[in-house]
Amino acid sequence: MIEARRVLVLAPHADDEVLGCGGTLALFAERGARVTVVVVFDGALGDPDGRFDGEGYAARRAAEARAGGAHLGVTSYRFWELPEGHAPSDAELRAFVPRLDALARELRPELVLAPWAGEAHADHRAVARAVELWLAEGAAPTEVWGYEVWSDLAPEHLVDVSGVWPAKLAALAEHDTQLAYRDLAAWCEARAHRLGAGALEAFRRFDVPVTTEVP
Ligand SMILES: [Zn+2]
Repeated sequence: MIEARRVLVLAPHADDEVLGCGGTLALFAERGARVTVVVVFDGALGDPDGRFDGEGYAARRAAEARAGGAHLGVTSYRFWELPEGHAPSDAELRAFVPRLDALARELRPELVLAPWAGEAHADHRAVARAVELWLAEGAAPTEVWGYEVWSDLAPEHLVDVSGVWPAKLAALAEHDTQLAYRDLAAWCEARAHRLGAGALEAFRRFDVPVTTEVP
């Protein structure tokens, strides 16, 4: 993975950027990189038991994300607030491509991080598929790597995030709406230690389709 100065993270839901690559983002931020997180879905289905006030729930999750990002040195967040849980078709996902193009033109990321294509969660797969469609059009100007949240990937790159692990846990701790359902820290601990010594975050490069275009 390159030493990027500008990093764009596509997170299906607020918290995925922490769960999947929060330590790596903290390391990039520490080295002066500008990290922008785009949260794609509104997260409205994240409270199946109705434990939180439905009105303002999306805003609450956005506030949690920003508070979490502050622990990682990430201050730039955007929220697309698309309705989650409807498994969009390829035709619908193609509508993302111009939007991703516009983001890339504006932010000029050298590295894009997105959920890897094998995630079991439908919203995660949808974002990964949109990225694949983007790559298939030869449009992505940059390195694109997948991170894991709920489903293990076969890593091509590991980042040792032991040194920033407390920051990752502090970021996770801001996500009260999700902690009400799941011990996210325990989940991350198990994931981070499954691949060897130290706390590791795992990445896999998105397959870039063969293109004849000259860059
Ligand atoms: Zn998610």
